[in-house]
Amino acid sequence: MAEYIGSIDQGTTSTRFMIFDHGGNEIARHQLEHEQVLPQAGWVEHDPTEIWERTSSVIQSTLNKAGLDASDLAALGITNQRETTVVWNKNTGRPYYNAIVWQDTRTDRIASALDRDERGDIIRRKAGLPPATYFSGGKIQWILENVDGVREAAEKGDAIFGNTDSWIIWNLTGGRNGGVHVTDPTNASRTMLMDLETLQWDDELLGFFDIPRSMLPEIKPSSTSEPYGVTLADGPFSGEVPITGILGDQQAATVGQVCFAPGEAKNTYGTGNFMLLNTGTELVRSNAGLLSTVCYQFGDDAPVYALEGSIAVTGSAVQWLRDQLGIISGASQSESLARQVDDNGGVYFVPAFSGLFAPYWRSDARGAIVGLSRFNNNAHLARATLESICYQSRDVAEAMEKDSGVVLEVLKVDGGVTANELCMQIQSDILGVPVSRPVVAETTALGAAYAAGLAVGFWANTDELRENWNESKRWEPQWDDEQREVGYAQWKKAVTRTLDWVD
Ligand code: ADP
Repeated sequence: MAEYIGSIDQGTTSTRFMIFDHGGNEIARHQLEHEQVLPQAGWVEHDPTEIWERTSSVIQSTLNKAGLDASDLAALGITNQRETTVVWNKNTGRPYYNAIVWQDTRTDRIASALDRDERGDIIRRKAGLPPATYFSGGKIQWILENVDGVREAAEKGDAIFGNTDSWIIWNLTGGRNGGVHVTDPTNASRTMLMDLETLQWDDELLGFFDIPRSMLPEIKPSSTSEPYGVTLADGPFSGEVPITGILGDQQAATVGQVCFAPGEAKNTYGTGNFMLLNTGTELVRSNAGLLSTVCYQFGDDAPVYALEGSIAVTGSAVQWLRDQLGIISGASQSESLARQVDDNGGVYFVPAFSGLFAPYWRSDARGAIVGLSRFNNNAHLARATLESICYQSRDVAEAMEKDSGVVLEVLKVDGGVTANELCMQIQSDILGVPVSRPVVAETTALGAAYAAGLAVGFWANTDELRENWNESKRWEPQWDDEQREVGYAQWKKAVTRTLDWVD
């Protein structure tokens, strides 16, 4: 039997391909960034063709580096940035428009109109989501309404939709020559179009966005022993590998962190932050501003659900310091700069660049830096940026406790920002609980590998996966309770300053 599992992680800033062994150890990887297309304020796009080219190239480079080929891979999993919307022509393989990225706010009118009548509550009830620019449904509607020829092509069944999981699998399995058009319930649960209980597309929801059902991929389990398809010999793998796992990136990280029991949670710190709490086979509805979402569906087993707190801007606030303000030259410098000061000097930064997601769901919010005095400098701003990542996570953790009654005892973390040791210390200080980072930080890619490997018997069961999880570092709280509560009260005040900014 082949000794490895391959995993494609098509993320917001980059695409990577990784190979794992049975112990969950990384054997090789290659990663390439793609362009962030920012045509106007609030718009964020990616070029789907560039993403497919980058995907092909990272697969080839990783296999070359490792000296492996398709026959060494028992199965392939894929994980992806969720919600980001691609619409393409199935006869030509060409996208009609750039991918509209999850952070893009151009559909705010569509989202707020839905929330002005009973449709908002129907979406909440059936899809588990509040109407928001974040999700795919409004983005598909925007493309249907604004890009010439798409509506007609969609009515004829020629224009099809997918998140980047579907787009890549379609290309890997033959593209216009018979590519398969599939997704899984974790991705579908982020569209506002799927019923969370039936795990099927819902005609009433489709009607709200006027989306023809024929555009949509077939929803199959996140892990399946009947492969969705097989990679082509003349594709980037130069051979046939069964594709047996699909998970949206945050659900993949939850699986990679082996949060298989109800009450287990993880927080991923990437472009944005995403805390997911496994709620088991019970669908828990939020009263505190969280999303109900599918955590995974393995084979014929009942689906497992999660509560999710999604934060739009965390690591990307660090990128903003680098790219827009130019006060650091690389993301890791945010740590050395912030270490030049002992505290935030009274400065709070609320990076509500895409409005505020959980638990506020205010698309009318915009960013603010408050509490400035002449004394403040770049180091305070860097520190305030790291604190903003952690305060937003506290907002979400509080909501999670309210909704689930589960009290956080330790926070499992992963993602690019967790390389920042100061930020992780601040997180522990602000939450008042230990923060724990695993040895394999690439939990997203690992989770997709787990889904694919479980399907083919490479791993026998989830207990076996638990044995692969090891802690690399733990941070303990150092602030006293008063410091923690005073800081949090100031943060809440800062948040109020960002609301009602856009009409
Ligand atoms: P994604 O999967 O969303 O593309 P990653 O997990 O790769 O994200 O993390 C990338 C993000 O992490 C970027 O936004 C970057 O600014 C941030 N980042 C990376 N290293 C650091 C660091 N040392 N300190 C703070 N932020 C960092």
